[in-house]
Amino acid sequence: MLPFKIHSPETEVSLPSWEKKHIKVTLKRDDLIHPFISGNKWRKLKYNLQKALQLKKSHIVTFGGAWSNHLLATACAGATFKVKTTAFVRGDEQFNNPVLAMCRLFGMKLIYVDRESYRNKEKLYHDYFGEDATSYYIHEGGYGSLGAKGCTELVYELQQEYQHIFVACGTGTTLAGIAHAVDQQDLFTQVHGIPILKNGEFILHECKQLYPDMTPPTLHLDYHFGGYAKSSTELLAFIQHFIATTGIMIEPTYTGKLLYAINDLIHKDYFTPADQLLVVHTGGLTGLLGMYERFEFIDLDQ
Ligand SMILES: *Cc1c(COP(=O)(O)O)cnc(C)c1O
Repeated sequence: MLPFKIHSPETEVSLPSWEKKHIKVTLKRDDLIHPFISGNKWRKLKYNLQKALQLKKSHIVTFGGAWSNHLLATACAGATFKVKTTAFVRGDEQFNNPVLAMCRLFGMKLIYVDRESYRNKEKLYHDYFGEDATSYYIHEGGYGSLGAKGCTELVYELQQEYQHIFVACGTGTTLAGIAHAVDQQDLFTQVHGIPILKNGEFILHECKQLYPDMTPPTLHLDYHFGGYAKSSTELLAFIQHFIATTGIMIEPTYTGKLLYAINDLIHKDYFTPADQLLVVHTGGLTGLLGMYERFEFIDLDQ
């Protein structure tokens, strides 16, 4: 129904220290799906959009922070599939940044709300659009069962079976979809999540909500670097090294923490030599636009 061909190849990636440990790492390049409807955000939107169109809704309403990959993805998808989009943006007053400017270029209407009102999203939706029969509600970050369903398809695309699949987690929707599909297909794969928020245990609860019978994935809780969009000199130095060594762009909010975790686990001999790892590159590279000033650009030859 939605004409959108998924291009997300599996490509091997290596750092010299990983080779020494004989660990094979493959990236699932969801970052290549689309430049703006980035990675897992397309997977999470797909069935939501399909349902909205089936219900003859012509206006999508959703929620996000000022650098939200989900808002940018929704704005671009709305323009592509000819659906109006409105977003409630968390923030006390009107402000602008490159991501929000791109959202507006795609035709998205932004409504800025203070943190307190932002908490009660159902009320916001009801107050503004309760009377509007054309509106369709999509959760912040594309969270929910339709979002997770879209993410199961990542597993159905895989060309081989892996010992481990790793993904970065915000809401946990992508992780839940992947873990569910691994169960469904009866794969031997162990599924791992790297929460990028503090106190990431809640992700297991979210997974259970979405799929009550699921084999719980393994969470690694120590790679949040202080919380959402927080970073450290060490994380930024690793990201710089990874990008310069592989030619693959990552960013500090999600994929940087994910690959830092992989690197750390490899160095700590968490894996068995010859293990095959699949790491999901969920995209979100526009996050770099708000963070480039943090890099110290150390001399890698030293
Ligand atoms: C949103 C996002 C995630 C988190 O996905 P969830 O399904 O919310 O866990 C991971 N990586 C990137 C790049 C994202 O934009």
